[in-house]
Amino acid sequence: MNASKPARLLLPLFGLLVACGDSEAPDVDSAAATGTTTGTDSANDEGTFNPDHGDPADPIEPTGGDDESSGSESGGDTDTPAGCVPPPLLLLSDIPDNPSLAYADDPDIVATFEVDGHDLIGKHVTDVAAAEGGLRLWQEVMLRIPENQLLDLVQLDISLDTDPVAYFNRNGNVTTTRLGLKIGFSVENFELNQDDPCAPLEPRRGTFDWSLVHEFGHLRGLVDGSWFLFLDTFPDVQGPGDGYPEDGSPILTGDFVTSYAERDDGDEDYAESWTTYVMLPASDIPALTGDDPLALQKVHWMDDQPDLRELREAIRITEADHVEVNVPAAPRLDTSIFDPDDGGNDSIVVPAELVGQWRESPTDGIAVTFAADDIILADYEAGAEVSSFSLGDALEAKALNYFEIHGGSPTLAYSYIEAPDTDRYNHDFFLQDDGDTVIFAREVLIAATGELEYLPEVTLTRVP
Ligand SMILES: [Zn+2]
Repeated sequence: MNASKPARLLLPLFGLLVACGDSEAPDVDSAAATGTTTGTDSANDEGTFNPDHGDPADPIEPTGGDDESSGSESGGDTDTPAGCVPPPLLLLSDIPDNPSLAYADDPDIVATFEVDGHDLIGKHVTDVAAAEGGLRLWQEVMLRIPENQLLDLVQLDISLDTDPVAYFNRNGNVTTTRLGLKIGFSVENFELNQDDPCAPLEPRRGTFDWSLVHEFGHLRGLVDGSWFLFLDTFPDVQGPGDGYPEDGSPILTGDFVTSYAERDDGDEDYAESWTTYVMLPASDIPALTGDDPLALQKVHWMDDQPDLRELREAIRITEADHVEVNVPAAPRLDTSIFDPDDGGNDSIVVPAELVGQWRESPTDGIAVTFAADDIILADYEAGAEVSSFSLGDALEAKALNYFEIHGGSPTLAYSYIEAPDTDRYNHDFFLQDDGDTVIFAREVLIAATGELEYLPEVTLTRVP
């Protein structure tokens, strides 16, 4: 039977819309709380974190080191490197109007730009001041993020809504005709931003610098798969988020780098760990010793991912220790998965490693059957199936709007919506290294409130 009973079974994706608000000030306490998880063994312990000097096989030449004519003399860390030249501030009047970029149903989004690399090639603006503020933010994006890292970003929003203060969308919710990814910033960032794009990074939450690096981190982690690898590597657990510095500075002494990383799910843990990796000078990041806090392991883990060391260096163009680097182009996303004409997906292709049946328990709870081209979720009580749902049916009904598989230890994610204005369900499956365990993560985006609701993760084991 195929009664759709999503209220219980079918929830969420991760990162449908990854909102990164979090304006709460954590309590002051130097100890990171909630340290109950054990470290994974996947973070290597080379202990050679030294991004300033790059890969020995690919020497990086320092830049601007002997010409400090432009910097202030107020201390090495605050000197602007001679290599930092702000990109030109784009003029609103130079960007063609494109009314089709408008959101019909969200008056808070007062400026929408179509992005093409560093260029903004179209706009729809209902608040000129906000749009011009957005261009100042974009100036710093251009400064820090190489164009070859932004090729799947198609849209930039500026929103009056200050919660979240910034967001990343990875499920194709854009108004551009080109398919791709979206980043949005609230107007609150205008206050959080430093006037000079070449001002040094402010390595703490609550700054525009932090939001920029964080949201871009979601994007980069999506296109290169490191986001999913991180979730396969570190425990995806949450805690109260107490005991972090009140000013939002990250710490490396517990399981998480920030309160937000602890309080939210693994997606935000990834983005916050990435942001900490970029923001902190290498001198503030201890070497690994083999018995290290998870937070420190996470930051070092970032340094081990392909090209992220170079990317970090590029973003740190404003820092006194910056060295010039070439950053290889980011992998490209298969954006055809966002095609709205067919509900987002043409087919369901399940990785062979997942094919079979997986159960929460022999008698109760969730059972998932992966076929080569379908996924069937069922709910059991006392050994009897009480509901089931076929993703293949959702595909036929054009309700499957997002489906993707990531390699390595396969991670499979999809989202679907039954009808316009109904809740959207997002599911993620993470195959564990043993090959016989899958972590099933679920979210639902409640249509009536716009709130994301997380359900407890479920561990499924393979039915022999
Ligand atoms: Zn985030």
